[in-house]
Amino acid sequence: MQATKRFDSTADSGKNAGQSRMNTSVLARITKMAFRHRLRMAVAVIATIAAAVFQLFVPQFLGRAVDQAQGLITGTAANAVDQNLAEAALFTTAMLLLFASVLRGLATMMQNYQGEAVGQIIGYELRLAYYQKLQSLSFSWRDRVHSGDLMTRGMLDVEGVRLWVSTGVLRMILLSILIGGGAIILIDIDPALAAIALAMVPIIGVRASIARLRLRDAWLKLQEEMSLLTRAMEENLAGIRVVRAFAAEAFEMARFEVISERARRISARRIGLFVSSTTQMTFVYFLVMGLVLWLGGQKVLAGTMTLGELTEFLAFMLILQMPVRQIGWMINSIARASTCGGRLFAVLDLEPSIANAPAAKPLAITNGIIKFENVSFGYAGQGEDHPTLSGISFEARPGQMIGIVGPPGSGKSTIASLLGRYYDVSSGRVSIDGQDIRDVTLASLRSAVAIVQQQPFLFTSSLDHNIAYGAPSTDRASIERSANASQLHDYIKGLPEGYGTLVGERGVSLSGGQRQRLAIARSILPESQVLVFDDSTAAVDAATEQRIRHAIQETVAERTIIIIAHRLTSLMHANEILFLEEGHIVERGSHAELIALNGRYAALYRLQTTQTGDDNLPSEAPQ
Ligand code: ADP
Repeated sequence: MQATKRFDSTADSGKNAGQSRMNTSVLARITKMAFRHRLRMAVAVIATIAAAVFQLFVPQFLGRAVDQAQGLITGTAANAVDQNLAEAALFTTAMLLLFASVLRGLATMMQNYQGEAVGQIIGYELRLAYYQKLQSLSFSWRDRVHSGDLMTRGMLDVEGVRLWVSTGVLRMILLSILIGGGAIILIDIDPALAAIALAMVPIIGVRASIARLRLRDAWLKLQEEMSLLTRAMEENLAGIRVVRAFAAEAFEMARFEVISERARRISARRIGLFVSSTTQMTFVYFLVMGLVLWLGGQKVLAGTMTLGELTEFLAFMLILQMPVRQIGWMINSIARASTCGGRLFAVLDLEPSIANAPAAKPLAITNGIIKFENVSFGYAGQGEDHPTLSGISFEARPGQMIGIVGPPGSGKSTIASLLGRYYDVSSGRVSIDGQDIRDVTLASLRSAVAIVQQQPFLFTSSLDHNIAYGAPSTDRASIERSANASQLHDYIKGLPEGYGTLVGERGVSLSGGQRQRLAIARSILPESQVLVFDDSTAAVDAATEQRIRHAIQETVAERTIIIIAHRLTSLMHANEILFLEEGHIVERGSHAELIALNGRYAALYRLQTTQTGDDNLPSEAPQ
């Protein structure tokens, strides 16, 4: 088991990159993940070793062939038999060369295929694990992280890790054997000449690594600018009406141009870096090659080296050129995998603060009695002296309605969040039918408590799929009944494609009130025992709201209902109304009792009922 780590939501990618550039534990963990697929990795590693070894044979055969050919040209054979033997030897060498090249090609193919296959599997596993983790992590954590950052981790970071598995691990084995084996063979032929030839390894290797790391930093900066550009474009498209209404096109254009120009400059710098480093490396390489050719040529002329040995030498240098340059790629790949893996594992290792208790049992609903007992709560980062809620106690029974009213920010929605256990209380207890909600399974709790949000989220799907989201196997008649109760059925029937109409950008766009009514239909469908309406009819006109209320009362007569609202007509029929202020219940009672109390509730009621032309006027007498 990995230790649970705290997630630092403020860490930016650059800072993280610096910290974990050579994080060996992250790399080891990724490599270990790859080697869990033993058979594939064993085949890939053997293929890689074989590819490297066969590649090392090629220059040796070439050198031997040159010496043999030279022997034939200069006619050193004593007789015809020797001549035939020499020709046969040359032919054998040519065949061996061909054989080694073909085997090397086959081994490389196998290495690429298996490496890529394991990489893809790891990418798939990580994406699933990450997505699953995001589903389980608590809201108190989500409150502190940016959605864009989480998406980057799920896409780009998974890709960085996957690439390391597909190519990085195997490439490291390949480069080590090629450079190490090549160096040994060169030293064996001529140590002095080998020292000159091998001088290019550290020079080009270091140069390539520096260039790659610089290129990577520039790439990260470019990504940042690109995400700014995307955000600017997204905002502009979403807020196009505001932009046009305020004739702000020129302002928006200028803003976009500034970011665009920054991105262009970074791109130009990257190209400059790339071209100059490639040129320098090529120059060093050919300089060393020229030197070896000149000195080696002299040795051949002096008879201390054969032409074949010089050819072998030069062929090795040709073969080593790519691996040496790839040291830079390797370092970059390590840096990227460390950063990406580190960021990804930071999320994967988190333990959700809200999870099923070890002995959690499903919630057993006997009556549906909700109890808040002296509940206090503060969001993370909030000072202890000013909790969001303190000393909240109330009880709601089935068939009853509890109304919660109060100024914005007084903690009304927080009560709903605590009831669904999206956050845990700091002190006190929330129970349903005597069971502390921390002792029951989350799934059973959330299917028993349906919360209708003020700003509902609709999926890009058909209307019936959106309504049946919480009860996907429900039948059409039940969907229509819910839509009828929330006063949406007639509207949907009038659409050409009825319940099959697509919602969202490519489909019909619903008004705020229609969206709220859809959310109500969605919440009453799964037959949850407890229904919480969190200001969920704020955008619906008073007459429609009244019809919804009647229909809901008929459909859900024996359920426990909590209504949070600004508009008093929404909750004046409640059995008990709680008036919340700064997290405290400052008044409580029925509508009649609160009016008689003549306090804050009564003042608010007077204010709402005397507003001229207001649709908040009660259209029926309070009970
Ligand atoms: P209401 O529903 O009465 O408008 P809320 O329950 O939404 O009030 O909020 C109560 C207080 O808690 C407000 O001060 C609000 O800023 C704060 N708050 C709400 N949600 C969060 C959150 N996710 N993280 C931190 N503070 C929050």
